[in-house]
Amino acid sequence: MSTEFPRFVDRFRQPEYTGKNRCTPCTIVNVTMAVFVSAGLTFVTPLLGVVFFAFSLAAIYLRGYFVPGTPTLTKRYFPNRLLRLFDKHETATPAPQETDREPEEVLTEANVIASCEEIDDLCLDEEFRTTWHDTMERVMEEGAEKSDLSRILDADEANLEFEEHDNAFLARIDGRRLGQWESRAALVADLAAARVLGDRYDDWDELTVDNQSRILSGLRIFLETCPECGGTITAEQETVESCCRSMEVVAATCEGCDARILEVEQNR
Ligand SMILES: [Zn+2]
Repeated sequence: MSTEFPRFVDRFRQPEYTGKNRCTPCTIVNVTMAVFVSAGLTFVTPLLGVVFFAFSLAAIYLRGYFVPGTPTLTKRYFPNRLLRLFDKHETATPAPQETDREPEEVLTEANVIASCEEIDDLCLDEEFRTTWHDTMERVMEEGAEKSDLSRILDADEANLEFEEHDNAFLARIDGRRLGQWESRAALVADLAAARVLGDRYDDWDELTVDNQSRILSGLRIFLETCPECGGTITAEQETVESCCRSMEVVAATCEGCDARILEVEQNR
């Protein structure tokens, strides 16, 4: 077979909607519509129905959809709860369990946060902040990310692998995902806070790893300077687009190195 044909086909491909970017709800909607429209056409002219069905399946395969505007329409009209089931945008924080301790409660008991002196809000204890930053520096100097994390997760350090892509920093063992952070800076902040909390709060080791992780990411809200570059961290509302939906998040980002420190989805 000549190589011309695949190249001709390639011109129709839309990689942004196929392969790992494929939107499953969009594909389901489109295949369903292809079946109904083709069935209707078959009553008029059987050949037309068959041709239409083949054409629309080819379009769905190569372009992700054949009904124009599908991804936008799906984002707009499908219930968010349903889209979340198919969503590939991985969020870092595990879902809370009933037996979990509330982050605010634990951090208050550990004297890490307390009511602010001047405004009606919670503030980070200044002594904790200093120790936390010193520990972050130590974690980075020692290059202790893997050894600290494998101890916390009770995993074999030699098999632990880190993987970094936009706004996600993943820890894997044999391809299995063990944990996810917004960035390496976020991981360093958590590991340092875990060291300090382990010394400061007697029941720390009794908490589940997921519960610890919720507490640690809650603590990151109070971070003002970046663990990696010392830059100022600013929080703002953003819209994050993933394959099938757009969501409103509050994102804290370092102004110096662009590291994402925290991302919290709004109105879940
Ligand atoms: Zn930074």
